[in-house]
Amino acid sequence: MEINEFIMANEKTIRMSFFFGMLIVMAIWEIVAPRRALTISKTVRWVNNLGLVFFNSFLLRVLFPAAAVGIAAFASSNGWGIFNYYDVPFWLTVVASVIIMDFVIYIQHVMVHAVPVLWRLHRVHHADLDYDVTTGARFHPIEIILSMLIKFATIVVLGPPVIAVVIFEIMLNATAMFNHGNVRLPTAIDKVLRLFLVTPDMHRVHHSVEDDEANSNFGFSLPWWDRMFGTYRDQPRGGHVGMTIGIHKFRDTKQVTWFSGLMTLPFKGKISDYVINRRQWSEPQQSSSNEKRAGE
Ligand SMILES: [Zn+2]
Ligand SMILES: [Zn+2]
Repeated sequence: MEINEFIMANEKTIRMSFFFGMLIVMAIWEIVAPRRALTISKTVRWVNNLGLVFFNSFLLRVLFPAAAVGIAAFASSNGWGIFNYYDVPFWLTVVASVIIMDFVIYIQHVMVHAVPVLWRLHRVHHADLDYDVTTGARFHPIEIILSMLIKFATIVVLGPPVIAVVIFEIMLNATAMFNHGNVRLPTAIDKVLRLFLVTPDMHRVHHSVEDDEANSNFGFSLPWWDRMFGTYRDQPRGGHVGMTIGIHKFRDTKQVTWFSGLMTLPFKGKISDYVINRRQWSEPQQSSSNEKRAGE
């Protein structure tokens, strides 16, 4: 198919264009209508967060030069995967593939919060003391590699068309940058938009220092999984301006902002620091009020 050849040849350019386009749009929006004041200098955050993003994309190119589209093309030429096995209409295959791949990302995200050793890696994304467009792409290289391997496995089992993989990757990248934006969106628009798409206010809840809030709203693109699987939370208790972003025990700027700190972050602290499925919220001193507050 001609379109496949075009995508395969220009995949890197297509994705880079969307990345920079979205980065510029969100950066301007964050200047014009910011939701919260940043606690750390924007320059310092951007240099380090984007430094990590470029390091990761370089690493992926070296380790997996074929990338996800290459795996999809390989699977289809070998007749691998559910959609290459059954005769399903093309448009349906594309739509279903994008939705299923988004569901896998949701499950993966729940998993990296639930399994202590994986949470260590994912902490790099959460330890950011502020929340802006660059937070959305800030992940530890090992988590990036792990995500890529999970994506490859999904593609081999599913057999999605190459175009579906490209759409999915662009959608995930663009929505992650959108919903990590430190931007103001009128409540009425947010309310309607979050029926179809994860909004900045919806995902910000997930970056709260409060354990129960951080274990909510795992979706990146589609908001439906959180509602279906009971992990949806409407708003943060402290409000979007009053809430604290980050992880309780990791507040040292060098550790959570600088590139070197981000690299070593997964190796800090004891494994026992983390308890699976922290959905309960306990008020620091009064344990008697726990039940009432947790049931809210
Ligand atoms: Zn998370
Ligand atoms: Zn996030």
